[in-house]
Amino acid sequence: MRVEAPKQRGWSQNLLDKAIDFHGHGGPFMVVGLRMGLMALDKLDAHGYFDLSCRARLHWGPPDSCVIDGIQISSGCTMGKHNIEVEDHDGITVEFTKGDRILGISLKPQVLERIHGILALKNEGAIRSMMVELAESSEGDVFNVVLTRAVR
Ligand SMILES: [Zn+2]
Repeated sequence: MRVEAPKQRGWSQNLLDKAIDFHGHGGPFMVVGLRMGLMALDKLDAHGYFDLSCRARLHWGPPDSCVIDGIQISSGCTMGKHNIEVEDHDGITVEFTKGDRILGISLKPQVLERIHGILALKNEGAIRSMMVELAESSEGDVFNVVLTRAVR
């Protein structure tokens, strides 16, 4: 029993709804994780679920680690299949591998700082607008992205 359809590569409200149902709440870090997974599917031309692996380096506790659940939902790399690994680290940097290609995606430090600032306000409206902004911003405004080939 396997899912034959590839993971969807584009942002949708349905994707966000699925992620919120899985995770229990929605926030800016979930949006960041969803976008990282979508970028991996697109830039590595991946089906998702089985042909991708992910190594995430970030502060291994909420709210930052909410990114992990976003990545699992959008990319299909999951803890249970052991194709996502997490390392405790400063910042938020994720590496996706498909075959010999590696996609590195970092959340820009100034964006990470802004998200923490907004979460500290505990204002639901501000959090929602930050989520919309993160979903709609161009990649270059939010992420640093590097595509490389693995050296074997
Ligand atoms: Zn969360």
